[in-house]
Formats: sequence, C-alpha cells, structure tokens
Amino acid sequence: MYQIDVNGLAVDVVRKNIKNLHLAVYPPNGRVRIAVPLRVNDEAVRLAVIAKLGWIKRQQTRFQNQDRESQREYVSGESHYFLGNRYLLNVIQHHSAGRVVIRNKKTIDLYVRSNSDVFQRRRVMQEWYRAYLREAIPPLVAKWEKKVGVHISEWGIKHMKTRWGTCNIKAKRIWLNLELAKKSPRCLEYVVVHEMVHLLERLHNDNFHSLMNQFLPTWKQYRDELNHVPLAHEEWEY
Ligand SMILES: [Zn+2]
Repeated sequence: MYQIDVNGLAVDVVRKNIKNLHLAVYPPNGRVRIAVPLRVNDEAVRLAVIAKLGWIKRQQTRFQNQDRESQREYVSGESHYFLGNRYLLNVIQHHSAGRVVIRNKKTIDLYVRSNSDVFQRRRVMQEWYRAYLREAIPPLVAKWEKKVGVHISEWGIKHMKTRWGTCNIKAKRIWLNLELAKKSPRCLEYVVVHEMVHLLERLHNDNFHSLMNQFLPTWKQYRDELNHVPLAHEEWEY
C-alpha cells in the first residue's frame, strides 16, 4: 500500500489482481482507500478519485455526524429520532422497569430508575426501537416476498455501524439495522426490498438497479434520505 495526494486528500492505494477500481471511505476518521487493478496507472487513479470527491466528502461528513450521534447522553432536552421525526427527550425517574412513551407528537418520555447511567438509558431506548421494528418488519417481509417472488428463511435486527442491512444469500437471511427505527417507515421498507432483491441479484449492478426500479421506482429518494443522515461505510464500485 502507498499513499497519493489528490487535491489535498490523502488516499491509500492498494494494487491488486482485480478487475475494477474499488473506492471506500472508512469510519471513524474517513480514511480513503482505493484498490486498483495492477494495469491502472496513478494518473488514472487520481482521476477516478477526483470524479468521486463529492461522494467522499459526503461520507466523511457523515462519519463526523455519527461521532456526534454516539456522544448522546440520554438527558432531558436532547433530540432523538423515531420514524423520521425529531423528538425532545424528557427523562423521568421512577422506581420500576424502564419504558418509553411518546407524548404530544413532540416529546419522548424516557422512564428510568433514578440511579440509571447512560448505558442503561440507551438500552431502554434501544429496546423500544427494537420492539417497534419487530412489529414493523414481518408485514413488510410478507408483502415483498410476494412481489419480489423470493422467500426469506430468517430475518433479524442488529445494531450495525456500517450497513443499513445485509443479506446472506445462501442462508436467505437478512439483517436490518436497529437504527432504521429512527428513519421514516419508507426507508425501512426500501432497505427490506433492497436486501430481498439481493436474492435475485447479488451485486449492485445494472440488473440490480433495474429490478429496484421495477419493484420500488422511488427507491433512490429513500436511499438519499437514508444517506442524508449519519451512518455507513459505503463503497462505490466502478
Ligand atoms: Zn446491497
């Protein structure tokens, strides 16, 4: 591996016996790495990176935001998201198990024990997000199994740092990111469809995109909505 400078941006270059250039931006610092076929010269690598500078900057901004996101303290007055809407957190101390209640379409009341720390508070919120997704996902899977014509043998919810969803094609298993509970329901639906379409097409190629256009013509809008906000090591294949 060696480094080149592209308009002030340090880019790690790895030469490999591969067919295509492969550009990635990694959390937490937004490190840029490009894997390139042996035959491609540095000038071509530079041009490829320049063509994606806007995208790289967007990824790096996203990681910065993500950092901010993880610094949440779960105290009253903080903003928290649910189904794409912003709520003000109101922490209420009480003497029984933690729970979450939405009030007035504006406030999330978080009930916790008086001596709870940030981790316990976060766990109560995450369990609440998880409970929502457990209800929301099965009807989506059933709906899209019919439309896409595939069968999912298993699905699950995971807190993932780098992906909105994943699909294990062989096991016909999809994982959905817990963070999706914070996004609008159509974003969740888009990720479900995206992962299910992988059962028809493994790669993000033209075929994949035309399948997405066919099943969910407005998918790009939802993808942009998801990418507008923190998360994700995303990769771009040329
Ligand atoms: Zn995918």
